[in-house]
Amino acid sequence: MKLILLGAPGAGKGSQATKISAEYGIPHISTGDALRANITAGTELGKFAQSFIEKGQLVPDEVVVNIVADRIKKEDCKKGFLLDGFPRTIPQAEALDKLTAIDVVINLDVDFELVIGRISGRRMCACGETYHISTYDKEICAKCGGKLYQRKDDNAETVKSRLEVYTKQSAPLVDYYKDKGILVNVDSNTTIQATFDAIKEILK
Ligand code: AMP
Repeated sequence: MKLILLGAPGAGKGSQATKISAEYGIPHISTGDALRANITAGTELGKFAQSFIEKGQLVPDEVVVNIVADRIKKEDCKKGFLLDGFPRTIPQAEALDKLTAIDVVINLDVDFELVIGRISGRRMCACGETYHISTYDKEICAKCGGKLYQRKDDNAETVKSRLEVYTKQSAPLVDYYKDKGILVNVDSNTTIQATFDAIKEILK
């Protein structure tokens, strides 16, 4: 099963991707995670990507297309994969079409008023776990004991640019995949579990 998760920043793509990946045993491929890993490792790619990410802008298409093209060639992607945060532009979607066929595109629908609160209260762990300060007030990850941190681009100013970028460059992907007949919309304004239950119903 080859899946794409679409949605605005703060729609819950990362949270749903973790759950889908565990439920269906397919690798979770997040271009955002791959770019952040390069920044942490201090690679040339990371240094290049960092300035775009910190301004809330998109990294150039060819950079992320190369990351995905390399990743989906790996053995563990033979039986499927889940793309989170890719594609984010029409040219990225067209490049992906040339690489492989996608089965289902899940679009997480979220009201923009909810997004700022979700993102500004988000705390991350290096192990991949994500928390929200409204439901978890500790500074240590419950899963691995790692120290939680806030993403540099999760501040109100950068979130505003990210939402503008989403509206201009990524929202047209909804129609792109609707026209191909593979898009499903899922309400992501409620809880993580309710959204996940709706996704499982669709993937049955
Ligand atoms: P994410 O973790 O998906 O929220 O991505 C964080 C940031 O990484 C984005 O705001 C972009 O700057 C960059 N990024 C991630 N995926 C892509 C992509 N497919 N195309 C361009 N930039 C991306």
